[in-house]
Amino acid sequence: MPAGRVIAHVDLDAFFASVEIRDDPSLAGKPVVVGGHPTRGVVTAASYEARKYGIHSAMPMARAMRACPELVVVRPRMRHYAEVSEQFFEVLHRYSPLVEGLSLDEAFLDLTGTQALLGPPMDAVRRLRAEVRERIGLAASAGLAPVKFVAKILTDLAKPDGQLEVHPGGVQAMLDPLPIGRLWGVGPKTEALLKSVRIRTIGDLRRAPADRLRFALGHDFEPLQALARGEDERPVVSDHEAKSLGAEETFEEDLEDLETIETYLLGQAERVASRLRRHGLAASGVTLKYKLADFKLVTRQTTLERPTSDGGVLFAAARGLLETHPPPKPIRLCGVSAHNLGPPPAPELFAQRDDKRDRLNAAVDRLRERFGNDAIRRARLLELDDEGKPKG
Ligand SMILES: [Mg+2]
Repeated sequence: MPAGRVIAHVDLDAFFASVEIRDDPSLAGKPVVVGGHPTRGVVTAASYEARKYGIHSAMPMARAMRACPELVVVRPRMRHYAEVSEQFFEVLHRYSPLVEGLSLDEAFLDLTGTQALLGPPMDAVRRLRAEVRERIGLAASAGLAPVKFVAKILTDLAKPDGQLEVHPGGVQAMLDPLPIGRLWGVGPKTEALLKSVRIRTIGDLRRAPADRLRFALGHDFEPLQALARGEDERPVVSDHEAKSLGAEETFEEDLEDLETIETYLLGQAERVASRLRRHGLAASGVTLKYKLADFKLVTRQTTLERPTSDGGVLFAAARGLLETHPPPKPIRLCGVSAHNLGPPPAPELFAQRDDKRDRLNAAVDRLRERFGNDAIRRARLLELDDEGKPKG
């Protein structure tokens, strides 16, 4: 592993549910879930009070309501969560230029070499979490480690509202006793295969002879065993350098209700859009992907008429793909990604003013006819006032 890397993983606690409780204090202390249809939907997020009843995200709503009859169910407000997420990422960017968003409420930060500026990483992360609480009223947990996946595991162990650190010399001792399912890339299927040859902990995997692993997994096991040794050279890749930006979720229970799947797609589209805007980018391609219960991966792409960083437009494209290519059976994962990234075109300046957009687009087209493309490119530099007109 590269010497001396310091990677932080930061994750908001019970994000959607915490936002709802923050916005409606009468919900504090109650078992709250953000979720969909009472019979067909699933739990999107569960408050810590709800978790005491064994309720967790991706659990069918019907089962959650049986587990806790006094459960408070709030419908998801994805656009609102995306706005809160933008504020969260604004804070993260104050602590490192290298921020890799994993979802609306979760990111890696490379803190290597920030010590002179920010002080010891544990102190910097403590201030970061205090700032998140002060500015957006939510609790965040964090992990600090020399490699990405170890930092992510530490965050899980630190929850709720805590932070943990491991130094390079301590990684092995920390990983060894953990159950094998904690390892990145070990899902229920791989976990069962490993347990069939009595590999239960990360330490068991690290020490297992090659023959036994080949017998259990029947394929290339070396990357997995490298993770068990704490080796993970993947760098933190900031959204700014990425060729595409995506968001996806794996469900604990396979989903087939299209409305529920669309709720996830909407959240993912908003998440991708907010990352595009943060980096001043727009996408002209959208990909929908889903994985069937039998692990077959399906991806479908479409090209947009004009580049966008609008979550509604990305969602409409993904939903269109879902309608024309509906999954033939339940799915275990879905995701939305944006590609063909570039600077937003001039009309993008008016994206927030939908009602005026068409009129302005028409004006832009007229300008283009009269003066050519250069006039339009210059217009991109103008600032707009509240009426959507160029300032000054
Ligand atoms: Mg979270």
